[in-house]
Amino acid sequence: MTGTKVLMNFEVTDTSHTLDAYLERGGYQTLEKVLKSMKPEDVTQAIVDSGIQGRGGAAFPAGRKWQGINPYDGQPHFLVANADEGEPGTFKDRWVLEHSPHTLLESMAIGAYSLAARHNFIYIRGEYDRPWRRLAAAVEEAYAAGYLGEGILGTDFATDIFVFRGAGSYVCGEASSLLGSIEGTRAYPRNRPPRMTVSGLFQSPTVVNNVETLSTISWIVNHGAEAFRATGSDASPGTRLLSVSGHVRRPGVYEVELGYPWGRLLHQDCGGIPGDRPIKAVIPGGISTPVVPAALAGIRTPDDLDGVLLDHDAVREAGSSMGSGGMIVIAEGTCMVRLLHIMLRFYHQESCGQCTPCREGTGWMHRIVERIVAGDGRPEDIERLYTISRANDGTTICGMGDAAGFATMGILDHFRDEFTYYIEHKRSRFEGNIECPGS
Ligand code: SF4
Repeated sequence: MTGTKVLMNFEVTDTSHTLDAYLERGGYQTLEKVLKSMKPEDVTQAIVDSGIQGRGGAAFPAGRKWQGINPYDGQPHFLVANADEGEPGTFKDRWVLEHSPHTLLESMAIGAYSLAARHNFIYIRGEYDRPWRRLAAAVEEAYAAGYLGEGILGTDFATDIFVFRGAGSYVCGEASSLLGSIEGTRAYPRNRPPRMTVSGLFQSPTVVNNVETLSTISWIVNHGAEAFRATGSDASPGTRLLSVSGHVRRPGVYEVELGYPWGRLLHQDCGGIPGDRPIKAVIPGGISTPVVPAALAGIRTPDDLDGVLLDHDAVREAGSSMGSGGMIVIAEGTCMVRLLHIMLRFYHQESCGQCTPCREGTGWMHRIVERIVAGDGRPEDIERLYTISRANDGTTICGMGDAAGFATMGILDHFRDEFTYYIEHKRSRFEGNIECPGS
């Protein structure tokens, strides 16, 4: 795999996550440069000029978010790293937390300087045990070496980072509900406005960024916005970490420049599909993004080495989104009815229950597909699933209600015939297969 590596640019060893190894790679030199030669607004301007879009799912321009805070307004500000990586199929932030936690800490210290944030939080998914242990150890190392705390690197700049462990709720990955969890209230997503940069953590201006987004900041400030823009595509600068799972020979985390050919990633870098089956479909950015049939994306067989390019616009034109970077590959022979059943069980269980269309709708959809899988489906069930999905569109507080509907409609739009077959024959056209032998 060719191209610039912003984050995966070193060899992973048993010690590459430690402070000593990070310093050998030039770590914390960018923080020193920032504190000794840049103004807070210069840092924010570099982020704006880089054009980096958030790597958590919404792809909102990170610089514009930072511009929402005036570092000189005298209010308390907070910077929060969202490390609650709970979207099914997504495990790329885990790579940063496990293998280069100091990249995140240095970038957060730079961000804290730019945003005048005295206190910062990293909200880490409760299930992430090794990443949490390594992150906590890295925070201790950074304090001991004077990169966090008071008088950082001999300047009068002071900032603290607290690591907060979640307790296993999917919805805490939603930024506003994550803040509620830190505050100690029930972790319900909040209505906007107000934006979090106006009233976020403890009603103070707050920036919440994903781990990958934040970790990229030190590279951008060190190399310059122009160098970042020179990577990736015009519309989507930079690189992305993609966690590839499902029916591929070499699942794992890959860093690609945006605009990288989708077919090359799956058939070459990820080793193709076990048994050399064709690809049936891919869910490109976690299960909350609509499925893309492989034929439509031009990535069905090993001969399809190009296909749709992996940037935000091209994947959107293919009917989906790069979302959280959690790419789930589905081989030919997989039963999409059973797949949707599993996805809807997840949404139903994880709904926080605030909004009726999500709380009731995900349950209804789950039960409808459950009865189809049990051989008791009714011809009108497919239209019912569409009706309930559409009722979630734009009627819920957070994106989960929409996501459940979009994911359902995506599968129905492209694989309706499998649902019709299941209902008519009371069995799967693909024997209910989800696993791909050898994957
Ligand atoms: S959409 Fe669902 S998860 Fe989101 S706030 Fe409403 S009920 Fe909760």
